[in-house]
Amino acid sequence: MIFVGWEPADQAFYLNVVDLCAACGGTGEIGGSEEVCPGCGGEGIQLAKLNPSHRQGGLSLDEIDERLSRDGVPFPELVRSDLLSDQRTNAGTLLHEYDL
Ligand SMILES: [Zn+2]
Repeated sequence: MIFVGWEPADQAFYLNVVDLCAACGGTGEIGGSEEVCPGCGGEGIQLAKLNPSHRQGGLSLDEIDERLSRDGVPFPELVRSDLLSDQRTNAGTLLHEYDL
């Protein structure tokens, strides 16, 4: 899963790539039950990977593009245009989440 967004404080974009929780496969629940997955607390992503140090900030759109393609992840036009509009409006820290 990929989190990208515009960071007004930095006047730059940030990128955070996290893996889906291996225990529940990203559903946040155990085997289709209503029980919250203990591996991720129901978040569906590996919390350890949400360590702020994994967050890469101060990026331009081209740099995000480059990093994603290095990881073999597509950078859809839709995502790019969302980010561009955040930059244009200097939107607050809006989080865009993409399941890829
Ligand atoms: Zn889980």
